[in-house]
Amino acid sequence: MKIGVLALQGGFIEHIHILQSLQVDTFEIRKKADLSQEMDGLIIPGGESTVIGKLLKDLDMYDDLKEKIEQGLPVFGTCAGMILLAKQIEGKSNACFGAIDITVKRNAYGRQLGSFFTEAEFKGIGIIPMTFIRAPYIESTGPNVEILSVVDEHIVAAREKNVLVTSYHPELTSDNRVHRYFIQSVCHCGLDPQSQEQILI
Ligand code: GLN
Repeated sequence: MKIGVLALQGGFIEHIHILQSLQVDTFEIRKKADLSQEMDGLIIPGGESTVIGKLLKDLDMYDDLKEKIEQGLPVFGTCAGMILLAKQIEGKSNACFGAIDITVKRNAYGRQLGSFFTEAEFKGIGIIPMTFIRAPYIESTGPNVEILSVVDEHIVAAREKNVLVTSYHPELTSDNRVHRYFIQSVCHCGLDPQSQEQILI
């Protein structure tokens, strides 16, 4: 099993470290040629969604990636990654990949509460630590979207088919359960027995 991590800008290295801790093969996607590698899943990290979106176009990677996601490549977007995967962004007429039927509000918590930490439920996993950094939240979801986390009445994690998104950054905590969920439930790939033991309680 191999997971590619989009490494154009933002917090990609933390995702790579979590995947390595789970004994999952991983590689950085920095240019168009990297997309020709076989992958069982893709992570789009946090960062600045406008910058990542522009780089995807400038480096001629957008069309290839969009096609892969539309063909069912499992993809996990955190924060800016969620914005890039959303079908609609509040106040903007064009989205990036439009791969999950959600409307997101960017920088939704305003300046004061732009960054904060909490603990809340991720459906099917339990209470997990959640780090928010100038985070978006999901304002509305389409009928086929499964809501996975809600914090203060705002939706902050969701899934539709092969696409998983979180407003928060699971990669910035030592809890690897959301990555495990992505690998096992979205990519439908097994983890080796050593990694199976790493379940946090
Ligand atoms: N505010 C950023 C954006 O709009 C997202 C922040 C993050 O990824 N931590 O793209």
